[in-house]
Amino acid sequence: MLTLIPLPAFEDNYIWVWHDGRHAVAVDPGDPAPLVAFLDAHRLGLSAVLITHHHRDHTGGVTYLRQRYNCAVYAPDNPRIPAVTHILHGGDALDIPEPGLHFDVLATPGHTLDHLSYVGEGCLFCGDTLFGCGCGKLFEGSPAMMAASLDAILALPEATRVCCAHEYTLSNIDFAKTIDGGNPALLERERVDRDLRAHGRPTLPSTLALEKATNPFLRFHDPDMTAFAAHYLNRPRPGAAEVFGAIRAAKDAWDG
Ligand code: ZN
Ligand code: FE
Repeated sequence: MLTLIPLPAFEDNYIWVWHDGRHAVAVDPGDPAPLVAFLDAHRLGLSAVLITHHHRDHTGGVTYLRQRYNCAVYAPDNPRIPAVTHILHGGDALDIPEPGLHFDVLATPGHTLDHLSYVGEGCLFCGDTLFGCGCGKLFEGSPAMMAASLDAILALPEATRVCCAHEYTLSNIDFAKTIDGGNPALLERERVDRDLRAHGRPTLPSTLALEKATNPFLRFHDPDMTAFAAHYLNRPRPGAAEVFGAIRAAKDAWDG
C-alpha cells in the first residue's frame, strides 16, 4: 500500500513523501534533515527525488540525499539544480519501480521559467505554481504564461489531490476574501482550514474541485473575477490572461 505524507520543512514548506513501507520518493526536499529523520524512523530507503523548480527551498537537500541514498534525481533542465540524474520536460513520463509510481510531467512556467509539475496516483505536485487558495509569485514568467500553466492544471480531473509546496492557505484565504468575499465555498473553506491549522494539521492536499470553487487564481475565466479585473484595471472586457494578471497584481499589492 502506498502512503502519501506532507513533511513540514523550514517555516512553511512541505516535502511530499510517497512510501510503501520500504521505499520512498520525495518531492522538493529543500532541507534534508526532516526527510532523513522520517526515513530513519520508518526504516525506508529513498529511491528518487522529484524537483519542481530551481529555488533553494526546493532543491537544498538534493546533493546530500543523492550522496547518502544514491537516489535518482528528476528535475527540469536548469544548471542551477545540483546532482540531477534525469532531466525532464513537459510531456515526459516517468516510472519509479520502487515503490511503483508513475508520473506525467506538466510544464507549468510562470513562477519560474523552468517550473514542472508532476501528475500521478490521483495527485498533482505543483511546487510553487498553485497554492491552497493562491498561486506562486511571477518571479520569471508573465501573467499570460502562468495563466496557460493554470489552464493545463484546470484540465485535470476535479478529484485530483493538490499537493502544494507551501502552507500559505490561511493568508491566501484572507486575500481571496477581499475580492471574492461573497463566495460561500470560500467562507466554508476558511472555517474548515482554520480549524485544521488550529489543530496543527496541514490544509493540504486540497482537491482541484475545491481550488476551482475557492481559489481566485483559478477563476480568471469567471464573470465575477472578470468584473473585479475590469474595475481594478479600469478597462472594460479584459481577456483571461489580463484578469489573471490583475488578480496577481492585487495580491502582490496586498502582500505589500
Ligand atoms: Zn519557488
Ligand atoms: Fe518555494
